[in-house]
Amino acid sequence: MTYQKTIKTDFTLEGIGLHSGKNVRVHFVPRGDNQGITFQRVDKRALPILTNIGAISDANFATIIGTNGTSISTTEHLLAALVGLGIDNILIEVDGPEIPILDGSSKIFVDALLKAGIKELTSEKAFVEVANPVTVKEDDRWIALYPYDGLKVTFSIDYPHPLIGKQRLSLNITPETFSKEIAFARTFGFKKDLDTFYANGLAQGGSLKNAIVLDEKEVINPEGLRAADEFVRHKILDLLGDMALLGHPLRGHIVAHKSGHALHHKLVFSLMEQKDRWAYKSTAGLFGLPSNLVPATA
Ligand SMILES: [Zn+2]
Repeated sequence: MTYQKTIKTDFTLEGIGLHSGKNVRVHFVPRGDNQGITFQRVDKRALPILTNIGAISDANFATIIGTNGTSISTTEHLLAALVGLGIDNILIEVDGPEIPILDGSSKIFVDALLKAGIKELTSEKAFVEVANPVTVKEDDRWIALYPYDGLKVTFSIDYPHPLIGKQRLSLNITPETFSKEIAFARTFGFKKDLDTFYANGLAQGGSLKNAIVLDEKEVINPEGLRAADEFVRHKILDLLGDMALLGHPLRGHIVAHKSGHALHHKLVFSLMEQKDRWAYKSTAGLFGLPSNLVPATA
């Protein structure tokens, strides 16, 4: 039997927000069984927001949770750390509109969460299990889910850039493999796109300290890459963060080709809408899922 997890003690992390360029403080608080992953703006009069598909408001450049002036942006690398470490229940209080970008990976979140300690709770983990395959496509990009006894990701990318090109990685995701193989991989961007972001007032906090930046030929960052295939590793990191929108840990094999946040979100919606494609096996009951999406098998 696998039990739900939270953290042992609360802690605070601080850093610059990617889009605002302002300092943000994040307070991580342990929670009990069946509470899920919740976010709360503490600089506004706002209710906690439970992380699930009802909570997404945009996915162009980031995964934004919540709406109406109390939303929280750039949650994906933090969510990846929580999914990767198998943390089911936690409250994340933040005093601004975005989670700090830190080094552009999940490493600082993972290190801090592990330092706080992972605590096992008394309820069984409430998995969403893939029962039948689901695929979503858009042009030459696609992502699919298959039944699998565990959590596995196979990701392939193909960028017309001499340093990236074709990269593919397949990995069983456990807290150990996530911490070692995925958490360190940084987000990446192209210098020409960054110039457009800056011109539009986006990515004000963006720098070589929190992203890999590429020009036409190579990496601009003086320290270089953390792994030759850091790009596909970061794509897996992003994908895992997006799977937090299921509201429950996933059991299945995710196979993705050139996909990104928007397609990942589509996959989550597509799975939830097709009630014959998934099963929910737990005595704990579903938490926070809109009632029209509860499958017949639950
Ligand atoms: Zn990312």
